[in-house]
Amino acid sequence: MDFEAFFKSELDGLHGEGRYRVFADLERHRGNFPRATRHTPDGPKEVTVWCSNDYLGMGQHPAVIEAMKEAIDHCGAGAGGTRNISGTTHYHVVLEQELADLHGKEAALIFNSGYMSNWATLGTLGQKIPGLIIFSDALNHASMIEGIRYAKCERVIWKHNDLNDLEAKLAAADPNAPKLIAFESIYSMDGDISPIKEICDLADKYGAMTYLDEVHAVGMYGPRGGGIAEREGLMDRLTIIEGTLGKSFGVMGGYIAASTALCDFIRSFASGFIFTTALPPTLAAGAIASIRHLKASPFERARHQDRVRKLRTMLDQKGIPHMHNPSHIVPVMVGDAAKCKWISDILLDTCGVYVQPINYPTVPRKTERLRITPTPLHSDADIEHLVGSLHQLWSRCALARHVA
Ligand SMILES: *Cc1c(COP(=O)(O)O)cnc(C)c1O
Repeated sequence: MDFEAFFKSELDGLHGEGRYRVFADLERHRGNFPRATRHTPDGPKEVTVWCSNDYLGMGQHPAVIEAMKEAIDHCGAGAGGTRNISGTTHYHVVLEQELADLHGKEAALIFNSGYMSNWATLGTLGQKIPGLIIFSDALNHASMIEGIRYAKCERVIWKHNDLNDLEAKLAAADPNAPKLIAFESIYSMDGDISPIKEICDLADKYGAMTYLDEVHAVGMYGPRGGGIAEREGLMDRLTIIEGTLGKSFGVMGGYIAASTALCDFIRSFASGFIFTTALPPTLAAGAIASIRHLKASPFERARHQDRVRKLRTMLDQKGIPHMHNPSHIVPVMVGDAAKCKWISDILLDTCGVYVQPINYPTVPRKTERLRITPTPLHSDADIEHLVGSLHQLWSRCALARHVA
């Protein structure tokens, strides 16, 4: 086989469909978030980042940076091994206590990413619990889908956020089979929120465990940043809460919080936890500082929501269509893959605004969008510049507007 020709023809296919991904080559500057330098063939350019998942700018927070510097000065760069073989440092132990406390659970277990935590936990539960059926929301993240596939157990996909469909599928399954319902609190592309309480009610009725991915909510919702389940007083009703340290906590890593026995079970059986070098102590130290800060400080959360409201109001004034969801994710709808990419390119090249186009297969065709994520550090002037730029491009591109 001509391997090179194969790779190239597959890539040509992506180009042909307008789905080829191009990464922006950015350099963030400490203390100057959301500004960054973008490296281009024509030299460096200043941009304002409008699509970061460092939702609260904690990746630049002085407390986080100080904690990381202190840790590297104190104990060096890497962990030096898997958690089992000399890789567990005191920072990892403290981080797990901090996370268990955040979610009101007995224990927590950290992984090298949120992706790994979903993949390893769902995969291990599905492999090890005899006859387990996993009921998975149709819009669950790729890491959950891959974990469930790897488990090779029975899986039932229910319509997104549809309680009737979930109940019908639970009722149709063998009443004696062990069950697990896997879902998210905030879905990242539409920014909609799941009916957590009602899903827990169904789980109780059918004897199922619950697995909630709070990746897009931890740090940002709830009095201490415990997520939507904390805000709604539901944390104790969930068997497992999963989160990331890489988005609003601004560092890197993933985790689950659950009972002592469950965490110990995953720790003891999950290949994706056991056979990989532990997170560097610096990352654990940064995450501890970030979580502690956000547990005590409501300021970032309040300012974040204020920025989201301001952006939505200004978009409405210009009639620029966006999804009216109850979260901090502002999807500006374009509905055409080529135009979406074109608008994003012009914003980047001529307006100094970086917002990545979101096209198929991440979202369905005809719902192509710019997924905008305001942070507490975007100023009024930043928002005005963004909306002004979109306003001009909407006219140039002859895109439909909503009447304000
Ligand atoms: C980003 C994401 C993950 C993976 O988390 P990482 O820490 O980035 O690996 C898991 N679930 C959802 C819903 C996500 O959006």
